[in-house]
Amino acid sequence: MKIEVIPCLNDNYSYLIYEEETNTVSIVDPSEFSPCEKIIKNYKKLDNILITHHHADHVGGNLKLKEKYNSKIFGYQKDKSRIPGIDILLYEDQIFNVGNLEVKVIFIPGHTSGHIAYYIKKENVIFTGDTLFSLGCGRVFEGSHKQMFESLNKLKILDPKTKVYCGHEYTKKNLEFCLTFDTENSFLREREQDINAKIKKNQPTIPTSLEEELKTNIFLRCDNIKVKQALNQKDSSDQEIFTKLRDLKDTF
Ligand code: ZN
Ligand code: FE
Repeated sequence: MKIEVIPCLNDNYSYLIYEEETNTVSIVDPSEFSPCEKIIKNYKKLDNILITHHHADHVGGNLKLKEKYNSKIFGYQKDKSRIPGIDILLYEDQIFNVGNLEVKVIFIPGHTSGHIAYYIKKENVIFTGDTLFSLGCGRVFEGSHKQMFESLNKLKILDPKTKVYCGHEYTKKNLEFCLTFDTENSFLREREQDINAKIKKNQPTIPTSLEEELKTNIFLRCDNIKVKQALNQKDSSDQEIFTKLRDLKDTF
């Protein structure tokens, strides 16, 4: 399997998945037609369009790509009226095939009520849309903080080697936030060097890995005593810490 990162709009990422054995071409969250089409052209086809959630910056290319390539559009069943051109309705924990790849639907509401992730266990890859970012997490728009917290917990238990492909290049800003409230984290300092080097060279900071996120993403470290102390909430529950951090990040 091969994955191509396609920068779209200001800071979005779409991803092309090429499964060689059956020559199957898929795209995750085509934000807009042109940048995606430039890459798809090299493959001369687009079989599948996989959507993590209904927001415009994730579905903007749907209809034009479907028209040109006669692709099938996949999305969460309850969002069928909000995902343009949807053909295949997906359910929580469903496993479906993209060529020879088995893809599992992980239901992770919070950013939107119908947000899903696509997990390819065999390849150790997950597409997390706007739920888990590199060093951050998505804003809570349609769900509750509790839902978002529980969704992140579903991702935390996957194989740490899993490579995480998220919907936006927000890493730099997220890094600043993490550094503010997780001051003594040496892993974070190490990652800072690496991230700055990539940004300087104009390279995507994506993918990240779950292992790295567990060590450095403050939203996955709500159980850490140093993080609790930094917020002056050492007796708060992990979920209360998450809520506090998410609120702080909204105005950061
Ligand atoms: Zn979104
Ligand atoms: Fe987005």
